[in-house]
Amino acid sequence: MTAQLTLALSKGRIFEETLPLLEAAGIRVTEDPEKSRKLILATNDPGVRVIIVRASDVPTYVQYGAADFGVAGKDVLHEHGGEGLYQPIDLNIAKCRVSVAVSAGFDYENAVRQGARLRVATKYTETARQHFASKGVHVDLIKLYGSMELAPLVGLSDAIVDLVSTGNTLRANNLVEVEHIMDISSRLVVNQAALKLKRERLQPIMDAFERASRLKASI
Ligand code: AMP
Repeated sequence: MTAQLTLALSKGRIFEETLPLLEAAGIRVTEDPEKSRKLILATNDPGVRVIIVRASDVPTYVQYGAADFGVAGKDVLHEHGGEGLYQPIDLNIAKCRVSVAVSAGFDYENAVRQGARLRVATKYTETARQHFASKGVHVDLIKLYGSMELAPLVGLSDAIVDLVSTGNTLRANNLVEVEHIMDISSRLVVNQAALKLKRERLQPIMDAFERASRLKASI
């Protein structure tokens, strides 16, 4: 009997940009998560199914073996810590950056120079904590779960730490990017036990992902 494989993906950019990699491994997802409310999606390969979870939950599903492998952004992996996960491939997809942004009228440089204690709203508390600690800036972190861009506009915080891709969302809300913390792309993550027990099934898919993502990086 061949082992069933479960792949954890999040809806949106990661799902869309993983489809061509799956295609390279001969796997086609037969349902569209934007149209269906199903959380377990079939593929043309009866031995592979896809589960749809929140981006920040992908490492947890894979860590506990509820999914054998998944695709997660470096931002999410950095927050999670990566425990129990093998991270063999940078897929070069869903690229963006983690940045510090403030309201256009706020003099961030000056506030930092003066040693002001800054209020920073973010979903990425661990990444933000490490960043400001390394700069010696004192911050009070305010944990949010979404729409970070709103926080400085209504006086919840002085700054935000958030993902930036084109910069359109910041511009639309009169915010400016003042520091670039790290570049982000999505990685393949594999459960360490599954890697040993299901290697025969996983390896060809990992190889196809690697080839397709290398090709994408070189274009
Ligand atoms: P943009 O307007 O293109 O700079 O995109 C910024 C918005 O999209 C922010 O709300 C981000 O949280 C979100 N975003 C950008 N890139 C990604 C990504 N790779 N994964 C998830 N969310 C993203």
